[in-house]
Amino acid sequence: MKYLGITLAKPKIGVFGFTGCEGCQLQIANNEENLKDLFGLIEVVNFREISSEKRGDYEIAFIEGSITTEKEAKNLKNIREQAGILVAIGACACLGGVNNMKSRFPLQDVVKEVYGAHSIDTGPVRKVREIVSVDVELPGCPISKPEFEWLVRHLVLGIEPQFPKYPVCVECKQRLNSCVFDMGMICLGPVTRAGCDAVCPRNRLGCWGCRGSSEEANFESLMEILREKGFSEEHIAERIQFFNAFSGN
Ligand code: SF4
Ligand code: SF4
Ligand code: SF4
Repeated sequence: MKYLGITLAKPKIGVFGFTGCEGCQLQIANNEENLKDLFGLIEVVNFREISSEKRGDYEIAFIEGSITTEKEAKNLKNIREQAGILVAIGACACLGGVNNMKSRFPLQDVVKEVYGAHSIDTGPVRKVREIVSVDVELPGCPISKPEFEWLVRHLVLGIEPQFPKYPVCVECKQRLNSCVFDMGMICLGPVTRAGCDAVCPRNRLGCWGCRGSSEEANFESLMEILREKGFSEEHIAERIQFFNAFSGN
């Protein structure tokens, strides 16, 4: 196969889901417009959402979801042993994501509240990189279809993908968007890594930080502004903890 005149290997890929809503896998599977072209670049050998094939000879593994049981951790380690390249996709895999909400409360209380008397195997939420080494993290909740295609082209061509390091505010301003702070909403755009084209602020929603922290984010300044604007500590904490994107800050 040739791409822009270059002969390409057609890597075998596997897509695997752990604890998550499968929305990131759906972003790949529901990309009808470009799926044929995309699957011309790669050979899908293991992807439960779209195929009954379950081969173990994949070279690139895409991992969706966070890790919440020992069984998941063991499966993930086996996948890491097989895959030459391991890519964590989505906020759950990269940050812990919305699953991390349960970590704010004692685990036994959460299990009792949700499952009652049923016994359920669930433990603390861990990011993929807390269990195995990760070569690339593709952020977002869910991941974006064009960014996934862009990443696959880079992997196939052997080019290291470079994600934006600057914050969502840059893209928001480039789109001449009105700031949602002026509409009385919280927005984490000043400290969140760009790349989503500021999709939430463009649709009159504050950013929730699903792409993780931008580089050199001035977290203290943002906190000052949020307090100055009169947002309660509870409201601020809820927003900041939502995707577990800023646990290091
Ligand atoms: S990152 Fe979002 S869309 Fe993807 S699996 Fe997690 S909750 Fe679902
Ligand atoms: S709406 Fe959010 S992302 Fe846009 S400029 Fe304001 S703070 Fe930044
Ligand atoms: S604006 Fe924020 S929450 Fe919305 S997609 Fe972009 S990074 Fe995620």
